Amino acid sequence: MIELPEAAVLAKQINETVVGKKIKNVIAAHTPHKLAWYFGDPQKYKSLLTGKVISEATSYGGQVEITAGKAKLLFSDGVNLRYHNKGTKLPDKHQLLLEFDDGPSLVGWVQMYGGLSAFPNGENDNKYYLIAKEKPSPLSSDFGENYFKSLFDEGTAKLSLKAFLATEQRIPGLGNGVLQDILFNAKMHPKKKAGTLSATEQQVLFDSIKNTLSEMTAKGGRDTENDLLGKPGAYKSKLSKNTVGQPCPICGTLIKKEAYLGGSIYYCARCQRI
Ligand SMILES: [Zn+2]
Repeated sequence: MIELPEAAVLAKQINETVVGKKIKNVIAAHTPHKLAWYFGDPQKYKSLLTGKVISEATSYGGQVEITAGKAKLLFSDGVNLRYHNKGTKLPDKHQLLLEFDDGPSLVGWVQMYGGLSAFPNGENDNKYYLIAKEKPSPLSSDFGENYFKSLFDEGTAKLSLKAFLATEQRIPGLGNGVLQDILFNAKMHPKKKAGTLSATEQQVLFDSIKNTLSEMTAKGGRDTENDLLGKPGAYKSKLSKNTVGQPCPICGTLIKKEAYLGGSIYYCARCQRI
């Protein structure tokens, strides 16, 4: 599932490869999928988008927004996005396909669940989208120490760090995937309670969020996810399905996997303290 680093990488790649291209054809909702969500009627996307030129791509949290004339396209985390050169084989299953007048295509499809939307700018009042747009990105200077410390309050004191960091869109784009290495680098256990952190520990966690997400983004995303050209990112995940059962890179203890709060957590029981 793409999260903040991968969405930032996708937006950058779209700016490099797709901007300036004119949309010649649109196929929406081609393959039925129960958990593919659309804004409004996807059959209207063709008339909304055809003839428009892609001018910009931006990421908000784990979402990628593309501007095409006065319309916006929005792909939420959970959507795979690929660029295909003219003549290359397109995937059989997809929920949104844009064909450009010089031949290439941009194809989006959902694996488990995800949103693929097109709408006139300003009309999408989806809360998840608006919150992601409004809150500061951990990659920006607006996400500073004071802002981060303000997230700790009475209401969050009893939450585990997994719940605190990766739910309720408290930090949009910080999901259960990137969470694992953020906590590993901070030497904190996913079940540690947010209210038990000292001021120094809050600082350590803040630095880890910034540094880990910056490194993941600079390296083109995590190696567990694919980019716009279908290539895995160059950031080697320390804790993921790829490293479970392997020795911790710091102390050699075998990395554990456990089901927790609707998803797997991975940790080193020696390095990461509750
Ligand atoms: Zn360890």
